[in-house]
Amino acid sequence: MKPGPILVVGSLNMDIVTRAPKFPLRGETILGEEVRFVPGGKGANQAVAAARLGADAVMLGAVGDDRFGEELTASLEGSGVRTSRLLVKPGTATGIASITLTPFDNNIVVVPGANGRLAPRDIEAAKDEFAAAAVVLLQLEIPLDAAVRASELAREQGVPVVLNPAPARELPPELLAGATYMTPNRTELAALTGEEELEPAVDKLLAMGPEYAIVTLGSEGAAWKRRGEPLRRAEAYRVPVVDTTGAGDAFNGGLASALVRGLSVEESVRFAMKTAALAVTRFGAQAGMPAFEEVERFPR
Ligand code: ADP
Repeated sequence: MKPGPILVVGSLNMDIVTRAPKFPLRGETILGEEVRFVPGGKGANQAVAAARLGADAVMLGAVGDDRFGEELTASLEGSGVRTSRLLVKPGTATGIASITLTPFDNNIVVVPGANGRLAPRDIEAAKDEFAAAAVVLLQLEIPLDAAVRASELAREQGVPVVLNPAPARELPPELLAGATYMTPNRTELAALTGEEELEPAVDKLLAMGPEYAIVTLGSEGAAWKRRGEPLRRAEAYRVPVVDTTGAGDAFNGGLASALVRGLSVEESVRFAMKTAALAVTRFGAQAGMPAFEEVERFPR
């Protein structure tokens, strides 16, 4: 992998998290207990993870011309993510996730807003950023045509793509074929392949195009396979879990940052697992992302 920045192409959301004793019934209004505004979105979370780990991370994505857009931009900059490629979509709201937590369950409504307006021509306008990048990190909270264009541009420039196929959705074959590394979790792997068993599913995924399948397995760690080589597995690090939101984002940011530093895939997976293990011990997706020194010291 040539040296250069990590170009993250993806979403930014403001998570509006309310806590309530129960969900309201149909037509009912109830009083909640607390509201928090937490920067999120898979793209932004992964960019923050990579930047906190010392990587040069550039975010290509879209916000609306509103207060949330300004706050999300400031939050990225606070973690050292470069925001010169963030687009402001006039007359559009910044993406939000409205999350209701009750003692029993969560409910989430996502409104993509500006994320849904990221267009292939926006991606093309950042062509020189693709040429400069060491790796392109992609997720699926943006329109698929934009994701496909990003993958094509990376490929034209000979830049590897890490595709985190989250949330699970049906993928055009060219996106699968354009990915060098695919990083589904267990659910996404099953959705993509229609196969529940780990190794047959991994083989099916590899047959769709990527050179490496790297599967995150939650508290069970991760498994990875390069086409034509045996499946490898690593146990998760044992940690006191506080908040697993963003575990996958920590993993992907950590993975990309390690690959860019020239680590092998196995070393990169282990570094990513350490990053994610530290992240789940803290509240908040972006707020919980560890610094490079912490990951280097871990586990100790
Ligand atoms: P996602 O958040 O996308 O569903 P996973 O739940 O598979 O992703 O978690 C991603 C990675 O985070 C795992 O591969 C693992 O390394 C780490 N991780 C997740 N949950 C835990 C946990 N309870 N303890 C330690 N590590 C964890």
